[in-house]
Parts: sequence; C-alpha cells; structure tokens
Amino acid sequence: MSQMILLDRVTKTYNKNLGSALDRVSLHIEPKEFVIVVGQSGAGKSTLLKLLTREERPTSGKIIVGGIDYDKLSDKKIPLLRRRIGTVFQDFKLLPNRTVFENVAFALEIVGASTKEINNTVPRVLDIVNLKDKAKRMPIELSGGERQRVAIARAIVRQPKILIADEPTGNLDPKHAWDVIRILEKINRYGTTVLLTTHNQDIVNRLKRRVVTIEGGRIVSDRANADYDNTSGKKAK
Ligand code: ADP
Repeated sequence: MSQMILLDRVTKTYNKNLGSALDRVSLHIEPKEFVIVVGQSGAGKSTLLKLLTREERPTSGKIIVGGIDYDKLSDKKIPLLRRRIGTVFQDFKLLPNRTVFENVAFALEIVGASTKEINNTVPRVLDIVNLKDKAKRMPIELSGGERQRVAIARAIVRQPKILIADEPTGNLDPKHAWDVIRILEKINRYGTTVLLTTHNQDIVNRLKRRVVTIEGGRIVSDRANADYDNTSGKKAK
C-alpha cells in the first residue's frame, strides 16, 4: 500500500444529539506529502488529528496509518504507533525545569535509549531546528519561536514517519511563525510526511501546498498548491 494516511468514510460522533464532529471523511495522504488542513473553529480538525494519534476512536469507518490498520491495533501497540507520529501543538508543552537538550533527550529516555545514543542524536536534531548553540538554555530563556522549535526537535528525535503540527504558529509573531514553518519544510524535505493545521492565511497562501478544507465535519475541498480565502473557503481570485 502506498498511502501513508488513509481514512475511508470515517465518522466520529461524540454525542448523538449534537450530530457528528466528522461525517464520512475520506482522505488519502502519500508518503512525504505536506498537507495543510484548514477550517473554522469547530469544523473537526482536532478530531481528525486525535483519530490519527488514537486519542479518539472513530464511530465508523476505516483508518490505516503507515500500514497499521487501526481496527486491528491492540492497546499494547499504541506506543509503537506514537513513535511513528510526532506531534507539535500551539502551546509548546516543554518541561520548564529542564534545558533544551534535556527536553529533547527526554523523548529518547522514555523509550530506553542509551546515553551514547542520546548524546549522538540530540545535537544532530537541535542542528536541524537551528538551536545547536542553545542546548543549555532553559525554556524560559527562549523566544516563543525557539520554544516551538525545541518542541519540533522533541517530536522528530525518534524519527517519526509523520509529523502532525496543530496550530504550531498560533502563539507566534509572523517572523517566528515563518522560522517554524521553514523548519517544517526542511523536515518534510528530509522525508517526513507533514500534516499542518493553521488559521494563518498568509502561511497557507505562500506555502503553495496541498490544502484540505473541513467544514462542519466534511471535507469541502482538497486542492494541490492552493491559494486559500479564509472567509469563503474558495480559491482566492
Ligand atoms: P476544530 O479542531 O476544527 O476546532 P473539533 O474537532 O475540536 O474542531 O470539534 C468538532 C466538533 O466536535 C465541535 O462541534 C466540537 O464541539 C465537538 N467536539 C470536539 N471534541 C468533543 C468532545 N470531546 N466531546 C463532545 N464534543 C466534542
């Protein structure tokens, strides 16, 4: 199978009285794609991402990620799945009492990596996010953009096949937002499939990547290299 992410008519209903958060969503994403998911608040973006990370289960429909069929996934195998999917959020979720190096190393410690492996890998990953010279800083001594890049380093240190970035620039000014986006592009060039959600229209327009638009739990458009008009979901001009 060549798909990295495959959703086939996936429905998620949290509460029968309120309708479905996702309604028969089908989506195919190939390895190494960079896909932006857009949509108003409440459209169903977070639900889609939580289904992929197995924080939520679908009410119906099929999900296969990196060849793993979620119908056949035992709870025991969820950690394996989580290693294949790195996640980054709007709030960076760094450990405040640990240095940059230690924050990234932690993701390796919890899977039993050796000190040698940690000392080899962490500087390499900090180099990718352009923070090699700040390894000894504490999170409080960093800008928002730098903190987010630490979070990205932590998310990729176990070499996931997929990186999910849920509003990673939501708390950042434009300069730092673009620093973060450029890092996501670099990681994508190195071969990781990237799934990005954003409300930032400028980023969507300038990235010129595939854009999937969700409205009321349905995919209402799916375009390569799209310009995106935030108000109507229609192609700009
Ligand atoms: P988005 O991420 O696009 O803002 P969400 O996926 O968070 O959208 O929400 C989609 C819909 O599902 C919304 O109507 C929201 O209120 C509802 N919803 C999300 N999470 C839950 C939950 N845990 N329980 C009940 N309803 C939920």
